[in-house]
Amino acid sequence: MKSLDITCRQSSLLLMQDADEPNSLFAQWRLNRHLVICSACRCFKGNLTLMKQATERWRKESIGFNFPTSSQ
Ligand SMILES: [Zn+2]
Repeated sequence: MKSLDITCRQSSLLLMQDADEPNSLFAQWRLNRHLVICSACRCFKGNLTLMKQATERWRKESIGFNFPTSSQ
C-alpha cells in the first residue's frame, strides 16, 4: 500500500504534472494533504500559477505581433 504522505519532491512533481493533465483523485488528495502542512510547497504552487497566468497573458497579447528575426 502506498504511503499517504508525500515528500516535497513528489509534491512539486505532482504540481507540475497537473499543469499538463489532471492528477488522479488519489494523487490530488495526497497533494492537498501535503499542501496543508507545507508552506514551501504552497509557495511553489503559487509561483507555478503566476507563471502560468503570465504565459497565458503573453501568448494572448503576442498574437499577431511579428517578432523580428535575426536575418532582418
Ligand atoms: Zn512540501
